[in-house]
Amino acid sequence: MREPIVLDGSRVAAEIKANLAGRVERLKELGIVPCLATILVGGDPASATYVKMKANACRRLGIESVRVELPETTTTEELLEAIGRLNEDPAVHGILLQHPVPGPIDERAAFDAIAIGKDVDGVTMLGFALNTFGAAAYPSCTPAAILTILDHYGIGIEGRHAVVVGRSPILGKPVSAMLLNRNATVTICHSKTTDLAEMVALGDIVVAAVGKPRFIQGEWIKPGAVVLDAGYNPGNVGDVDYEAACRNASAITPVPAGVGPVTISMLLKHTVEAAERAAGLR
Ligand code: NAP
Repeated sequence: MREPIVLDGSRVAAEIKANLAGRVERLKELGIVPCLATILVGGDPASATYVKMKANACRRLGIESVRVELPETTTTEELLEAIGRLNEDPAVHGILLQHPVPGPIDERAAFDAIAIGKDVDGVTMLGFALNTFGAAAYPSCTPAAILTILDHYGIGIEGRHAVVVGRSPILGKPVSAMLLNRNATVTICHSKTTDLAEMVALGDIVVAAVGKPRFIQGEWIKPGAVVLDAGYNPGNVGDVDYEAACRNASAITPVPAGVGPVTISMLLKHTVEAAERAAGLR
């Protein structure tokens, strides 16, 4: 078997950001600075790192980043009020609530409090429904990244069997809907799936969205399949046993530098688009 094509997310992300830079400049000429507000509740170090990475990515592109930090003891009502203030603020174009939020908070209520026009991370139920109907302004960022990588490399989706492992509201379910909307035949697997290896082996396209390091075994992958590993586990390890999967896959995303950087560039793209809408350019 030949070496697979490594689907280089860093390169895809760099191209997207290069395209966005001109659009940010054009907005600035009109006196509008695209602005993403990030909300971090509590002191989880991993969440703090993710928020910082996203804010830095914004700044590098000339997008303003407003950071709202709330204590661990924040109630659902207090978080909803903070989101409400950002919804009302015309200078804020996108809102990102870093998840998970501390246990006692109603995370779903908080996500759904984000105004649909500012839901650049694609986390609201309304955004999910629009996405499933193929009409979302801003689909969930990681699913959008996966589709963008496939399109960038000219990998066909229509008529192919896509097997998605994971069904979370931000990843497994929306990416399944997006692949279905692009005329793939989609199988969705989850923790109660009894014959996972056989299911994965059916996939022309395999999406790993499990959250377990090296969980998808190389020998499960059908020879010639395309593998997209959304997993990001401690130690920079994906959800796929990469080396073993390389023996069967025709193309595969590495971890890191695969889906992750494109996900951040999707967040930037959606924020720029939200600012363009606010400026009447879209
Ligand atoms: P999640 O909410 O924990 O969902 C995990 C999914 O995996 C669930 O649907 C679960 O099934 C399924 N699952 C768990 N054990 C399984 C098993 N033994 N067999 C089959 N399915 C199993 O995770 P998530 O938020 O979707 O994230 C998934 C991964 O993607 C994580 O590694 C996360 O770090 C990564 N991620 C990456 C990015 C990025 O930008 N690259 C963004 C978001 C997430 P049930 O529904 O039955 O419980």
